[in-house]
Amino acid sequence: MNKKEIEKLKKEITKKETNIFDHLKKAETDAAFRQAERYKAFLDNGKTEREAVEQIRQTLEKSGFVNMDDVLDKQRPAIHKKYYKVLKNKCVAAAVLGKNSVRSGANVIASHIDSPRLDLKQNPLYEDLDLAFLKTHYYGGIKKYQWLSIPLALHGIVVKKDGSSIDICIGEADGDPVFTVSDLLPHLAGNQQGSKKVSEAFEGEKLNLLCGSMPLGNETIKERFKLGVLKLLYDQYGMVESDFVSAELEAVPAFKAKDVGFDRSMIGAYGQDDRICAFSQLEALTSLEGVDQTSAALFFDKEEIGSEGTTSAKSGFIEDFLSDLLFMNNEPTDSRTLRKCLMNSRCLSADVNGAMDPDYKEVHEKLNAARLGRGICITKFTGARGKAGASDAGAEFVGLIRNLFDKHNILWQTGELGKIDEGGGGTLAKFLAELGMDILDCGPALLAMHSPFEIAGKADLYMTYKGYREFYCM
Ligand code: MN
Ligand code: MN
Repeated sequence: MNKKEIEKLKKEITKKETNIFDHLKKAETDAAFRQAERYKAFLDNGKTEREAVEQIRQTLEKSGFVNMDDVLDKQRPAIHKKYYKVLKNKCVAAAVLGKNSVRSGANVIASHIDSPRLDLKQNPLYEDLDLAFLKTHYYGGIKKYQWLSIPLALHGIVVKKDGSSIDICIGEADGDPVFTVSDLLPHLAGNQQGSKKVSEAFEGEKLNLLCGSMPLGNETIKERFKLGVLKLLYDQYGMVESDFVSAELEAVPAFKAKDVGFDRSMIGAYGQDDRICAFSQLEALTSLEGVDQTSAALFFDKEEIGSEGTTSAKSGFIEDFLSDLLFMNNEPTDSRTLRKCLMNSRCLSADVNGAMDPDYKEVHEKLNAARLGRGICITKFTGARGKAGASDAGAEFVGLIRNLFDKHNILWQTGELGKIDEGGGGTLAKFLAELGMDILDCGPALLAMHSPFEIAGKADLYMTYKGYREFYCM
């Protein structure tokens, strides 16, 4: 073979991954940047699972989706084609009914809308050295030092002893106060932090939120700094100390989503794991005009703590939603039909992967690591130490998805989270796999994942949206 022939053959038989910007036309780059503006607003307005639910609900309503719980007892057969359902204010499911029956299987995309953060404990408030603090218990996988000395906002709900509830959001509006976990000055940190292993230098019990320093009354009043805060809460919200017991208050970074870089090609923000996928699947679902198979989107809570609990992927929500869809579509709703529907369904576990970090290449295996700017990432298996705890997608299903993406010019890459035995992580894929659906992890790669300021590529966001859309249309 001559050189030319070899070059031609090489092109045919070797795998090549390229940067999205080599492929995007000007109009598409513009579309990606416009989409990123909508995405940043979605992030800023939905920093907790409850707020994300509200964002998603509003978008669905605007796009003509009907709250299933409003019509379930009234209408049959279905007169609507688009439905959604909210579970305990923390999860959403939405679907566009297809031309084919629901029992013939749905194309499902499932993401999660919870993110690592600091949750207030149930007895949080105390004072020390004339300062008032709130104790926290961190939620999800964090590097504790990243949460020190940054402005934090408090979001959540308090259910008061009379049963009424109040929403709280302090630290987001201009002029709002914020909270912070103060860090030790470097001058005195040598023994406490500097000479220790990072895992030991920062303690969970020291992640206490500074929340006040003005006393109520004079020195004869005990705990008057704590009392100063309690009085403010009482005046403002009518809440008393015991109401913290039935509250869910989450401290999250108080800053807004920003463009990153001279070229503004990236987005830096809190909570992109996994709201970048939630946003992409929401835009994909609401853009559908008519599909053959039923298209469904699931937005779950509690992924970051192992998908445990009543609002997680293990909660039975998907079975409940699909059986309601069968009902609304005038199909049988017995358990055998539901099982067939699940076994016939195909699912993308829409979650992020860690992008290879140029400063820490040693934790990645470069042939199989995902990169920023290389498009939607297919992760065949997750887990750690010999694929333990993995969902390992079948070759046939991976083949189906890569061919779909190739056919529609979706730039994709593959990604394995870190070198073997370097660590690892799972997603909700394995819990949905138990229902019998084919499932594959598929989402963009982030830098600084799980940090208060995660980095995503705008072009990756765009490819993720496009990929999810084609999956729905499959
Ligand atoms: Mn995730
Ligand atoms: Mn995560």
